[in-house]
Amino acid sequence: MLWILISLFFFFCAVREIRSSFIAPAGYDLPMPVSKPYLAVVLGLAVLFAWPTVHRWYFQWYLSGRATVLADDHRAKVHCNTMFDTMLDSEMLASGHANPRTGEIAIQKPWCDRLMSYLAHPTRASELEVVSLDIFTHESMHVRGEMNEARTECQAVQRNYRAAKLFGVSDETAKQNALDYFNTTYQMRGKIGGMQGAYYSDQCAPGKAMDEHLSDSTWATP
Ligand SMILES: [Zn+2]
Repeated sequence: MLWILISLFFFFCAVREIRSSFIAPAGYDLPMPVSKPYLAVVLGLAVLFAWPTVHRWYFQWYLSGRATVLADDHRAKVHCNTMFDTMLDSEMLASGHANPRTGEIAIQKPWCDRLMSYLAHPTRASELEVVSLDIFTHESMHVRGEMNEARTECQAVQRNYRAAKLFGVSDETAKQNALDYFNTTYQMRGKIGGMQGAYYSDQCAPGKAMDEHLSDSTWATP
């Protein structure tokens, strides 16, 4: 928000400069010619300061559309928290949270950036970047209506392959990333236990009680 205000200030400077070339500014008898270098600088600064916010708005809109598809058409609205939002968030320690009633999903500060990095180079995704994909799928499952964390996470595990493909990741890479999450990070949660254990169930595996037998499940064999 602060960046947008700074951007608006520079935009205002540009408008004032153009305006003074038509209407004489206070204290002058004649309109002043536009200073092109000044105009270029203030317009450049206006765009520069607006860019991070505009880019985040676009990314949120892009994520919202895909989260809605994953949530079986329950309308999702994704918000990528800035550092400031995260500080004010009552659930600041969670990587993300969702409200199934309103469809609002909040993703905390570094995780939207990590998801952006994942989408930029899925073939060489780091473990954390793959986790960011799972956080996105997990929160989408809350919007779909599930609130039990172990069941929500298992639904996400089975849909991470679908999620990656919705982002345009190639079939082979999407499968690999989704399976990597299930085989490593997810299994670690079970071993760590405690808070992490609440997101894990040994029934979340092919053929077990939580298997939804999705035709495009992460673990389905083609
Ligand atoms: Zn959750």
